[in-house]
Amino acid sequence: MATATPEPEILAAFEAATGFMPVAEGLALYAAAVDAGALGLPLLEVGTYCGRSTILLADAARGAGTVAVTVDHHRGSEEQQPGWEYHDPALVDPEVGRMDTLPTFRRTLHRAGLEEHVLAVVGRSPQVARVWTSPLGLVFIDGGHTDEHANGDYEGWAPRIADGGLLVIHDVFPDPADGGQAPYRVHRRALASGAFTEISVTDSLRVLRRTGPGV
Ligand code: SAH
Ligand code: MG
Repeated sequence: MATATPEPEILAAFEAATGFMPVAEGLALYAAAVDAGALGLPLLEVGTYCGRSTILLADAARGAGTVAVTVDHHRGSEEQQPGWEYHDPALVDPEVGRMDTLPTFRRTLHRAGLEEHVLAVVGRSPQVARVWTSPLGLVFIDGGHTDEHANGDYEGWAPRIADGGLLVIHDVFPDPADGGQAPYRVHRRALASGAFTEISVTDSLRVLRRTGPGV
């Protein structure tokens, strides 16, 4: 696959952004997005958070003359709620008393100069998937980490991946000591379907190409 790397200013914007995507995995995501961008179809992400990974998809989409679509209800995953391991109190809307990552996300994209290349969809992944009917060049699953959410993301979005397009899954940990197992189970499910062939592994980031029917 292509090993495209982002321009220094894009990499700097990515590194400065709040979020959960390490640099090595971000570079693999970027290379996948450039590869998939050749299909000329939108690149879709589930799990925007503050836009860190969105920067990479947006820049690849810009280069390919398409758009990045990013889906999130912006209320945070289970592990990001108050009292949990990944909670950031700076991301709570004091009026509502709940997480709201949308304002930070918008600043991230504005700062990176990428607003025009992104469609931000605020909503729950399965509800958005139900109304989304057009084909996608890439689906990046980085949303909720329960089996319910991870399977919902796979079932909702994987069927939309065009032939030759890519399915990218984050937080795949074969060893339970390293992290939750739901993304790993979805990764195995995708391979077991026969519709995908793995093309790269970078830490917990897996890139699969759609090579057949029957997702
Ligand atoms: N890609 C981000 C990290 C995403 S964190 C980065 O690079 O930093 C996971 C995000 O998924 C959270 O913002 C959470 O609100 C969102 N999320 C979890 N379950 C969801 C669902 N069912 N629908 C939409 N968004 C969801
Ligand atoms: Mg993740």
